Amino acid sequence: MKKHNFSAGPSILPQEVFEKSAQAVLDFNNLGLSILEISHRSKDFVAVMEEARATALELLGLEGKGYKALFLTGGASMEFVRVPYNLLKENGKAAYLDTGTWASGAIKEAKRFGTTEVIASSKNENYNYIPKGFAVPTDADYLHCTSNNTIFGTQMHSFPETNVPLVCDMSSDIFSRELDFSKFGIIYAGAQKNMGPAGTTLVIVKEDILGNTGRNIPGILDYSQHIAKESMYNTPAVFPVYTSLLTLQWVKKNGGVAALEKKNNEKAELLYNEIDRNPLFTGTAKTEDRSKMNVTFLLKDEAHTEQFDKLWKEANISGINGHRSVGGYRASIYNAMPLESVKVLVDVMQEFERTV
Ligand code: PMP
Repeated sequence: MKKHNFSAGPSILPQEVFEKSAQAVLDFNNLGLSILEISHRSKDFVAVMEEARATALELLGLEGKGYKALFLTGGASMEFVRVPYNLLKENGKAAYLDTGTWASGAIKEAKRFGTTEVIASSKNENYNYIPKGFAVPTDADYLHCTSNNTIFGTQMHSFPETNVPLVCDMSSDIFSRELDFSKFGIIYAGAQKNMGPAGTTLVIVKEDILGNTGRNIPGILDYSQHIAKESMYNTPAVFPVYTSLLTLQWVKKNGGVAALEKKNNEKAELLYNEIDRNPLFTGTAKTEDRSKMNVTFLLKDEAHTEQFDKLWKEANISGINGHRSVGGYRASIYNAMPLESVKVLVDVMQEFERTV
């Protein structure tokens, strides 16, 4: 029986995406060939790449606005390196927001390239909030932020107004809500939450911010070269890109980002209401900064852990153990998570309250 999968990533995808991608492994486009055995330069795969790139821009409202979408490899972590390589001028300065483990991973890499100013951090409270009221240096080459902090369950609900290019790691909330995406110079997201299997990263670049660093960038790290080669600089992650396309088609068919945002709000509200109502639980993130993708919570009395764990396991729930740096529980309720599964978790929490 299929489990209710609350895993933080790799994570749940729409069931029809699993089915269609499985079929393509056996026979892709009735070619008599698996998608795993055809050339990435074949007409059939080039069409996949083109549609995936175009659909990503379309879903974010970025068509015709000077952006290019790429499907690269190396994970979101590779973009921690590519971003400063492509944007941080020799003798320039980068500005970063430190909102969690992944943000600080990005900061660590930028520091290898040059002056990296952390303009605000929530490390002092184990990243349970999003810093506010900071000033962005107007002479920075870019500002990097992380829209959703997968581990700590916080999410940026507004973004700084700034004249410098805004770069955002949207790995764990891409395509989950409407934003003015044209505010961003670069958006990147590892596929393995809201888009597909691990193995590819969607990178969206506003072309006119490139080419100003004075650096001699190795080809594989150079966004301009990936753009010039239409995301085929080297062999792309063929199967993850195809599976991502299937998910993007599913998003489109289901009313796009706006419709998913409505569903995501409903799911998050249901779960947070229960955390706030149920006297046995407490949320870990500051209320105003709570994530609508990763819901982190604790048992008020850890002595009940075994009892609660038994109940959710019996209810066929999987993947809600919290990250070791927060403890407790983390229910990831990405785009593909049905409201019904969230209801099952809420029912378990209520059953726990009755029986403890
Ligand atoms: N950024 C965020 C927000 C993440 O949640 C993760 C973990 N998936 C990463 C970056 C690192 O991604 P990857 O493992 O693809 O390098």
